Amino acid sequence: MKKLLDGQTAIITGGSSGIGKKTAEIFTEEGASVVLVARGKEKLDKVVGELTGRGFKAIGVPADVSCEDDCKNIAKEAVKEFGKIDILVNNAGIADKHRPITRTDTDFWRQVTGINQDSVFFLTKAVLEYMEKEGKGSIINVSSIGGVFGSAGISYSASKSAVLGMTKNIAIQFAGKGIRCNAIAPGPTPTALNTPEAMATFDTEFAKKCADHMDMSVPEADVEDQANAILYFASDMSKAVTGQVLVVDNGCTL
Ligand code: NAD
Repeated sequence: MKKLLDGQTAIITGGSSGIGKKTAEIFTEEGASVVLVARGKEKLDKVVGELTGRGFKAIGVPADVSCEDDCKNIAKEAVKEFGKIDILVNNAGIADKHRPITRTDTDFWRQVTGINQDSVFFLTKAVLEYMEKEGKGSIINVSSIGGVFGSAGISYSASKSAVLGMTKNIAIQFAGKGIRCNAIAPGPTPTALNTPEAMATFDTEFAKKCADHMDMSVPEADVEDQANAILYFASDMSKAVTGQVLVVDNGCTL
């Protein structure tokens, strides 16, 4: 039976955990070969081993996506291994502990925006060099409800809003030329980003203020909900859709 991503090659950043790992599982089950990117080699090797152990095609490229040279290398390695890049999932990201502007210093701002925002510019540019030659591709950026509604720390909200701006801008450049670019905006989703230990480091006053602007009584979405939304944009199911953002939050921001 034909699968949704048969014969496709996908790069997934932040592929060793959370939403990225679930996306890698679903993509390979749907027939894709995957190139997983994360900073930590050990965790990456483990996930790649799990996938190849199930007979799927997967490689890991340890890299820091906030570094432009690393991003160029990711694209090169993907093409060296699989000959082409059909799908790019810009998923790697870090949280900003819900720090508002008055409690965010410049180093922290640069760290968060470097990983959440610059990475999307660097890696998408590197990958487009190859996608343009094929005249085909689907790019999916993982933003956040924080990027849509401002309901997170300043550096996270700003970087995730920038991701939405880039999504629409890239979509305009390639509209009708076979390359699409869309984004998902997850709501709270249980992952390493928001474990009780991670949340203990949040700016509690501002985190509460943000939560007051949402309906926190609705159940959280899970990593599978996010990965399925990414799959929709990656596959031909969405072949006429570009420049769009899909909020996946069970309605907590309505
Ligand atoms: P996670 O911590 O499990 O995954 C983040 C991944 O990004 C990890 O694999 C990590 O190694 C990787 N990463 C971080 N910095 C990197 C760098 N410099 N270079 C390469 N890889 C790097 O958390 P997650 O929730 O699965 O996060 C995935 C994406 O979803 C992030 O962009 C996050 O902002 C977004 N998101 C998550 C939530 C949520 O509630 N979990 C909500 C909205 C948006």
